[in-house]
Amino acid sequence: MQTSTRNSVLLERSRTAVWHPCTQMKQHETLPIVPIARAQGCWLYDCDGKRYLDAVSSWWVNLFGHSEPRINAALIDQLQKLEHVMLAGFTHEPVVALSERLSALTGGKLGHCFYGSDGASATEIALKMSFQYWRNSGKADKTEFISLSGSYHGETMGALSVTDVALFKDTYAPLLRHSAQVPSPDWRQAADGVSPRDHALACAKLLKQHLEQHHARTAALIVEPLVQGATGMAMYDPEYLRQARALCDRYGVHLIADEIMTGFGRTGTFFAHEQASITPDFLCLSKGITGGYLPLSVVMTTDAVYQAFYDDKVTRGFLHSHSYTGNALACRAALATLDIFQQDNVIQNNRVRAQRMTAAAQALAQHPRIRNFRTTGMIWAFEVGGADTTFSRRLFEAGLRREVLLRPIGNTVYFMPPYVLSDGEMDLLATRTLEALDATP
Ligand SMILES: *Cc1c(COP(=O)(O)O)cnc(C)c1O
Repeated sequence: MQTSTRNSVLLERSRTAVWHPCTQMKQHETLPIVPIARAQGCWLYDCDGKRYLDAVSSWWVNLFGHSEPRINAALIDQLQKLEHVMLAGFTHEPVVALSERLSALTGGKLGHCFYGSDGASATEIALKMSFQYWRNSGKADKTEFISLSGSYHGETMGALSVTDVALFKDTYAPLLRHSAQVPSPDWRQAADGVSPRDHALACAKLLKQHLEQHHARTAALIVEPLVQGATGMAMYDPEYLRQARALCDRYGVHLIADEIMTGFGRTGTFFAHEQASITPDFLCLSKGITGGYLPLSVVMTTDAVYQAFYDDKVTRGFLHSHSYTGNALACRAALATLDIFQQDNVIQNNRVRAQRMTAAAQALAQHPRIRNFRTTGMIWAFEVGGADTTFSRRLFEAGLRREVLLRPIGNTVYFMPPYVLSDGEMDLLATRTLEALDATP
């Protein structure tokens, strides 16, 4: 790929000084790092003004495009008042207002918000809280966790221990606590002629068998509701969540909904778990929470959990902390994000937008190399046949040459665009992806 001097100076400095995430740095000897100078709406611009359509919402965080005027204005206003104060013993309007509004979005059922700074920390918090709830309740033997096969809950050691993606986990296996995996209701794994719902029911039966045997030692089941992202956008029927909720209740096990990716409208409802009409015991949120502006995460939980920690004894409290907990700027960005959901009637409008995008992708869906074309809310995914281990990188490059940022997971190509994609941008995304695919044997 050709790069100008300005671009190549920046990418060379980056290659030297920055250790990039989720990357074999040696690959950057041939694969250029893309230097981004500014961004607007769905578009990223490099130092020469060459543009890229951000079809993956900058790793699934952006909701309303880059440089959103209302979020910008809220942050500028907040900067003039309070950038940050420690949350132990202190509080501020943005963190209180955000907690109240998030709680209201769960119908008041998850009324207690505990903040972290990223998704993995939210997972850690939920696991620790669940364990300590049981310990405080006289059930200290509940030390085990269950997750689904193909699960992804972050990459710190606790989060990685309930993650089931070999590429991220195998190297560190000797450092991790054991956790149990039950089969994922991912409908691609259903036998021929078995509906997604029946496959979900069959998987729920296997969960039941596991719980029957292990419930006394199990603290919680952690799931990504409806879509398992990092394993390759595995989608499943909401019936599994209904079954899982009932089984967790029956066997005295917490249900943790990791909605770090699926929250904030991504699956078509504000929270994915709404589609199963259930409430989890813990709800983990991050990624879209600030509209893609600032790192922030939160774990929301019930009054029953909260009360088990509320005591004269300090050590029965949840003594977990992060320095930037409840950061005022991040909370203010989150409030502006919630405002936009209301002002722009986002959930309703996304239904129309999603249909339009699915129509735009019809030629792709019918392409002979494509299997399992699927969609949930504002996520589209499919597998590409005949792909080797270098496919993902080669399609990424072919996409960049055609102004689209795609970042396939193995042979799974997906779109997770900002919610402000215009009709023209949808057509461009579909057409250029098709061209990139045809250029990537
Ligand atoms: C991204 C993600 C995480 C981890 O969040 P980070 O902010 O990257 O630590 C956890 N769970 C799910 C479902 C995610 O998609």
